[in-house]
Amino acid sequence: MDFQLSEEQKELQESVRRYATERLLPIAEEIERTGEPPSRELVHEFAEMGYLGINVPEALGGQGLGNLEALLVLEELGKVSSAVAFPVFESCVGPVRAIEKFADPSLVASVVPAVCAGDKMIAIAMSEPQAGTALTDLTTKARIEGDEVIINGTKRWCSGGGHADAYLVYCRFSDEPGAKSIGAVYVEKGTPGLSFGRPEHLMGFRGVPSSDIFFDNVRVPANNVVVNAGGFKKLMAAFDLERCGNATMAMAQAAAALADVAEYVQERRQFGKAIVDFQGVQLKLAEMQMQVEASRLLIWRAAVDAEHGFPSISASSIAKCFANEIARSVTGNALQLMGGYGYSKEFPMERRFRDAWGWGIAGGAIDIQKVNIAGALIGRRFNQRA
Ligand SMILES: Cc1cc2nc3c(=O)[nH]c(=O)nc-3n(C[C@H](O)[C@H](O)[C@H](O)COP(=O)(O)OP(=O)(O)OC[C@H]3O[C@@H](n4cnc5c(N)ncnc54)[C@H](O)[C@@H]3O)c2cc1C
Repeated sequence: MDFQLSEEQKELQESVRRYATERLLPIAEEIERTGEPPSRELVHEFAEMGYLGINVPEALGGQGLGNLEALLVLEELGKVSSAVAFPVFESCVGPVRAIEKFADPSLVASVVPAVCAGDKMIAIAMSEPQAGTALTDLTTKARIEGDEVIINGTKRWCSGGGHADAYLVYCRFSDEPGAKSIGAVYVEKGTPGLSFGRPEHLMGFRGVPSSDIFFDNVRVPANNVVVNAGGFKKLMAAFDLERCGNATMAMAQAAAALADVAEYVQERRQFGKAIVDFQGVQLKLAEMQMQVEASRLLIWRAAVDAEHGFPSISASSIAKCFANEIARSVTGNALQLMGGYGYSKEFPMERRFRDAWGWGIAGGAIDIQKVNIAGALIGRRFNQRA
């Protein structure tokens, strides 16, 4: 067992860190001010840097590296801001990986290289007004008619809704309830019958557009079916990797908050001395450091266990749940240690706190991760309906 990164991984981490701090900090501030997502130019720049689909095979336009490398890049970009890192999140751990693994080769060839080149952004549309944690209650219907699929229904909370070029849409292929009839279809923006709700105003995640998506007899080629009925397990396997990405984005908020506050407490003076010289402050810093380091190791464990495949539900749920919880507490403590300055929008601390909260709802709320973890521990899935 080796807890060290290789020389190449350290170099990658260092180069992204340099690029992120030198180039992306002002962009993150601008995104926060305007609420506009990263520009297409920036997304193309990410492609040139090789960050989009870094863990996608070279034959499909990626860098052919592993999941750990993808998460190293994501952490450094996520420390700058969730919105800045979001296109890399979607390309490395999001719906694109499900398309790459499960779609028809012709669809893979038309979608994945375009994502890695920065020409296409794909979002994931699972949640619905009445199907959040209970995802298998989803009612969006896909009906196969000849060589077409016809989709009807409503999706909610889609990150990238209205902005992304295409959507991986979870659908039900028959009237059979539960997971068995659920699959997923690839749908491009601009397809007749596809429309979007008003942009959502969320507590955080500024610069990650979100909206409802409406499907009114949307017709796409049957070849766009990425996973057919009966393939829900495949979708959830791909989601195990997304969980590690979510965990990384949450942990990155905590790591960046800790780095900033560690400097702040050495500069800020009260009662005639730097506040870091109060033992109460030292204890807080130590707790935050332990939480961030433990979180990073849990994420890396999940990623390394599945270097080129998908992590286990247990390792990815533990990594996500822990990161989600510590991100809320570390960013909250860092904000508190900055006093009024932490609460001011002049500094990125309050944004990190707001974003950290969101990562603990996105991708499955914290408590349902705990249900997954207990299930893995006991050795059976707990039926939430019985
Ligand atoms: C920032 C953000 C980004 C998102 N991005 C996307 C996206 O890109 N695509 C997408 O499809 N969705 C997205 N979502 C939606 C997200 O997946 C859902 O919000 C999430 O799954 C929770 O569903 P819900 O909001 O309907 O809450 P509910 O399911 O109503 O749950 C509310 C609370 O009830 C509790 N609860 C519910 N069921 C259980 C249970 N069985 N055991 C224990 N506690 C339980 C939990 O505490 C939970 O937090 C996003 C959400 C947020 C906040």
